[in-house]
Amino acid sequence: MNIETREEALSILNLKNDELPELLNIVYSIRKKYKGNRVGIQLLTNVRSGNCTQNCAYCAQSILSKVDIKKYSLVSTEKILKDGNLVLDNSLARHCLGLSGIRFSDTEINEFANQIIKLKKETQTPICCSIGLLTLDQAEILKKAGVDRINHNLNTSERFYPYICTTHTYKERIDNIKMLQSLGFEICCGGIIGLGEEKMDIVDMVFSIKEINPQAVPINFLIPIKGTPLENSDTAYLTAEYCLKILCLTRLLLPKSDIRCAAGREVYLKGWEKELFCVVDSVFASGYLTTDGDGIDETIKVIKDAGFEYYIESSNFE
Ligand code: SF4
Repeated sequence: MNIETREEALSILNLKNDELPELLNIVYSIRKKYKGNRVGIQLLTNVRSGNCTQNCAYCAQSILSKVDIKKYSLVSTEKILKDGNLVLDNSLARHCLGLSGIRFSDTEINEFANQIIKLKKETQTPICCSIGLLTLDQAEILKKAGVDRINHNLNTSERFYPYICTTHTYKERIDNIKMLQSLGFEICCGGIIGLGEEKMDIVDMVFSIKEINPQAVPINFLIPIKGTPLENSDTAYLTAEYCLKILCLTRLLLPKSDIRCAAGREVYLKGWEKELFCVVDSVFASGYLTTDGDGIDETIKVIKDAGFEYYIESSNFE
């Protein structure tokens, strides 16, 4: 199935639910061709939390948020190493480190880079960081320290972006990703569904992500957080079928990327794991920054119960 135009992409999101099994069959054959039957599990460590100057409407760490979350600047090296060893002991595919904030001082980046050097020395695990908008010099420091991949989500379409954030622009995000790619970083780039966007915004976002051609594409489904501007968002339309159609479209447009079902999996796709893993080859375990997720054992169980294997990047565990 070749999706070339936005209209063709939109028609996937508009499919009737009774046409979904046929779509899943097609998408599963693509998933199987490029990703086999394995599912990668990622663990996320929040290494800097809260106190962000930005106003992203969905985020509990934003300047608008009234959510009572733990706020801290960079966590201790001990905590990062502890999580790193958890990743290693459980043979998880990658260790993701999330930092709240959009811009960092050179001192902060140097401090974090030193932690990464220690982490990399101890675990050798592939490392992905979510770390705002970096300057060229800062990005070079992190590359040297051993960061393999950087997460920078587009979140939604360019048209809809000002409705969810006005303190930085879509273009700044795209420019930063291009700079990171020029330095040889792998890129993880995805979005959030359920922000109030229209279907065409989802289509536009996935086309923009396709242009970037990232190694990984995390798709989040909004869990409205009390105390954020989106606390009363109506997410009733995020049915399992609709979520699956969005993930199918993502797989069709980015057949070779890791397609990750991130936040919202345990809420919107519970009981649909068999169908879900026909499309995605990657999930998070143990939480998403400020909301909880399934633990590692439970995540492994749902993958196995659905008839899939969990993914180990063995070449990185010599
Ligand atoms: S998503 Fe990132 S940049 Fe936006 S408010 Fe949250 S921590 Fe800040």
